[in-house]
Amino acid sequence: MEHAKSVIKLPDVAHIAQSWPGFQNCLIEALPGEIDLNFKLTRQDGACFVLKIAHPDTSLESLDFQNKLLQHLAKQALPLRLPQVILSQKGATIHLLEGAEGGNRYVRVLSWVEGRVWGKSSPAGTAPLESLGKALGVLDAALAAFEHPEARRYLKWDVIKMPWIELHFELFPENQKKILLYFLSLFKSEVTPRLNQLRQSVIYNDANDYNILLDPATFVPLDVISLIDYGDALYSCTVCDLAIAIAYAVIDKPDPLAAAAAVVRGYHRQYPLQEAEAAALFPLVAARLCISVTVSALNRSEHPENEYLQISDRTAWSLLEKWHKIPPALAHYTFRHACDWEPCPQRPAFNQWFTQFNAPAPIVPLPAGAATGWLDLSVGSLDIGHNRNFEDSDRFERVIENLLEEKGIAVGVGGYNEVRPFYTTDSYTIQSNDGPHWRTVHLGLDLWAPAHTAVYAPLAGVVLAVQDNEGERDYGPTLILEHTPEPGLTFYTLYGHLSRASIATWKVGMQVEQGAHVADIGPRPENGNWPPHLHFQVMLDLLGNSGDYPGVAYPDQRAVWTSICPDPAPLAGWGASPTPPDLRLSQRRSERLGPNLSLSYQRPLHIVRGHLQYLYDHEGRRYLDAVNNVPHVGHQHERVVRAGQRQMAVLNTNTRYLHPNIVGLAGELLATLPPEFEVCYFVNSGSEANELALRMARTATGRQDTLVIAGGYHGNTAASVAVSSYKFDGPGGGGALPHIHKLPMPDPYRHPKEEIIRQAQTVLKTTPPLAAFIHESILSCGGQIVPPPGYFSEIYAQVRASGGLCIADEVQTGLGRPGATYWAFQLHGLVPDIVTIGKPLGNGHPIGAVAVRRDIARAFANGMEYFNTFGGNPVSCAIAHEVLNVVYDENLQANAQEVGNYLLEQMRQLQVYYPLIGDVRGSGLFLGIEFVSDPHLRQAAALQAGWLVNRMRERGILLSTDGPQHNVIKIKPPMCITRPNVDFLVEQMGVVMKEMR
Ligand code: PMP
Repeated sequence: MEHAKSVIKLPDVAHIAQSWPGFQNCLIEALPGEIDLNFKLTRQDGACFVLKIAHPDTSLESLDFQNKLLQHLAKQALPLRLPQVILSQKGATIHLLEGAEGGNRYVRVLSWVEGRVWGKSSPAGTAPLESLGKALGVLDAALAAFEHPEARRYLKWDVIKMPWIELHFELFPENQKKILLYFLSLFKSEVTPRLNQLRQSVIYNDANDYNILLDPATFVPLDVISLIDYGDALYSCTVCDLAIAIAYAVIDKPDPLAAAAAVVRGYHRQYPLQEAEAAALFPLVAARLCISVTVSALNRSEHPENEYLQISDRTAWSLLEKWHKIPPALAHYTFRHACDWEPCPQRPAFNQWFTQFNAPAPIVPLPAGAATGWLDLSVGSLDIGHNRNFEDSDRFERVIENLLEEKGIAVGVGGYNEVRPFYTTDSYTIQSNDGPHWRTVHLGLDLWAPAHTAVYAPLAGVVLAVQDNEGERDYGPTLILEHTPEPGLTFYTLYGHLSRASIATWKVGMQVEQGAHVADIGPRPENGNWPPHLHFQVMLDLLGNSGDYPGVAYPDQRAVWTSICPDPAPLAGWGASPTPPDLRLSQRRSERLGPNLSLSYQRPLHIVRGHLQYLYDHEGRRYLDAVNNVPHVGHQHERVVRAGQRQMAVLNTNTRYLHPNIVGLAGELLATLPPEFEVCYFVNSGSEANELALRMARTATGRQDTLVIAGGYHGNTAASVAVSSYKFDGPGGGGALPHIHKLPMPDPYRHPKEEIIRQAQTVLKTTPPLAAFIHESILSCGGQIVPPPGYFSEIYAQVRASGGLCIADEVQTGLGRPGATYWAFQLHGLVPDIVTIGKPLGNGHPIGAVAVRRDIARAFANGMEYFNTFGGNPVSCAIAHEVLNVVYDENLQANAQEVGNYLLEQMRQLQVYYPLIGDVRGSGLFLGIEFVSDPHLRQAAALQAGWLVNRMRERGILLSTDGPQHNVIKIKPPMCITRPNVDFLVEQMGVVMKEMR
């Protein structure tokens, strides 16, 4: 098109533009365009337009068609910002430019639509996809009644004309030809016979990613506001519009089917699809891609010198390859689900037959007099216990044996539609469109019984497959039967984890009688190395599988898979599987708990399991917990859990008896502190530790006045709130009480060190003699702020000079978290008078401590007894003892330093690309990432920080925001976090940062 560009220069355009009213002296910019010459005109009043000079071959009728289409849409007040046709001085929609080089040309002016081009953005999550579907639905609904004689034309891009590509298969290598052939035959089998059932209308026919505009007004573009360029519009099957949009919008998605379903959902809600359209959609998407790669191949063969053409269809091919791996029926059912229909259309017929079916006998018969019972192996089941109970096959077998014995049952039944944690380790990770996900929803019924127990056929059938699915945690020896209990109804049953010997004589095609002994339950390890059990599954569609079949589904596809695989329990002779109760946690929580007890995330999480640095929600999704410093050595750490369980089973009582646990723990804790600390007190929380510390300091000094730092937080009790500026200066707070004196926030990101110290000195000059100065050594709620070197020692010196005591609050930071040191006060070279300890000490169990000098302890013992019902009890102390030992044995302080430094480094690299990251700071595994709207002005970017935290949650990483303006991302994970975890966190953060650009 270069030749065409060169013939019309900007001054000519300026002249042409005079034919429209008000276009004198407008700013003109050339725009890229494949066929037309396009120019952006900015009028002096700021309004923008596109001047389009049509290619000389373009007919007047086709331009009239486009204009009429836009005018038709303009009349309907659609919720889209569509280009408007601007009339010329003469009131015409099309202006004739006579005698231009290359022939006469037609010129049009359309209004400019400001938006972010989809193809240049990284639309985040499913919202933009649904919005795209909705926008197309709006458009197609509005075009349903539009007609124009030019609309009925032939375009090679018309998806319905796809079979033309057949003529050009010789352009492709064998592997690609195979894929094109596959989709061509799918088109012929699934689309061609349905053609007369598909609605037809004038369609837009060009929802490619460079024609879709997103709302530019929000920092994250989520809403599709416009679709531009109507040059390809024509009369065709309406659903092609949807197919084209999908072909472009899902192109880079790890899970294109899920993304496509979101577009379908948006479309269907706006403009309901019909069943035949949903059935044709999958091959139509492929058809568009096939046309696209064929057009590219043709262009390439005509212009072999053009490098750009050589790579231009890489993304289309990568999507075609992914699309090729999706069973078409699964896609069809997924689209049906997106339309809120029963996903598997065979299901009603199965249900109908099933209501009349009576199981002859259980397929795994019970020994006489023995009982059966349901087993709960769901992700949060207390029966399973620790992750190692299922990760280690020997342990898993013992757990199942013990459960059967405890419950007094010979056969344990369960598992259909149950969310299980068995496949949530790294090796089973699959990328969804929003971070990693795992197959967790079990589709079969498990019958846990001893190896070699006989299995009987519930109904007559034919052997469809006999296969040994070898491999750890696979099905092992497997049998699949086909059943046709009545004309028109065929379905399949699968029997997994069998004994090899018991299926040796079956051959494909053999008849199986109802009630026949078909196989035996297999022993470990030949059964896939599971505790012996039968996996029994019913499938209404084999989806192209033969000897194997998915037995677990991704939670987001649960409705589709449970529609294809109905509950097998009634067929197996065990009534219906229990359905989990509807806990309505959100609603009942807000009814029963105080309204100011907040939940994290816009979509609150229901967490049911934790393991080391991971948490698992009720759907079995595993999250990297990057914000929880309470499970210091890791969630559910086996040694810590065991220590608590063992002590709890023997004794738990108050501290008025001699017991080695409290004495031992005090010794161990003091050994980690400077020698000045000689005495410990045990409490139940960080707040209580600070409450006690303040009481001690006030008793010891006989004063009340206390010095605090702006943004500091020390707890939820009355006295600790009174010293927490984060609370008393925050919403609902009443400001500082008269005896509380506040230092400004020592924020080195915003103020030089000298200024910070000077400001502190100014406050200290006017403060009365103090009981105490209480501080965090890295301000946590204040925004992970590390005060500058020399700051604390200056304050300590002045406080002590006036007889006050210095309390270091280590509730967040203690036990090796700072990496370089065991306690955060040591980062500043301090030796405080009182240290308070909380969160990490119990690894989630409520225990806190106060460590002091002996003289302070003596002064505190003024006659009033110190008693604490729970503080220091044998169970809490056993747990804390184990935590201290695990920190040591697992070298967790060194890990905090090593992994923490790596995390800092990686974040600083991200900072180079994203000016939104104003500051990266902290020590060890106690870090803060401050978001600012501009790196120079340093204004808090709280919305963006909140967005990031919520998006990271969607992508499998838990973080939170803090700081007085909630613009600081807090990172303080369990101390066992690894470098690969950091890589994952940084990679995901990069993805989300890009969405905000
Ligand atoms: N001090 C600090 C520094 C804290 O961050 C917290 C809790 N976030 C507390 C004390 C209070 O601890 P708890 O919630 O265990 O009472």
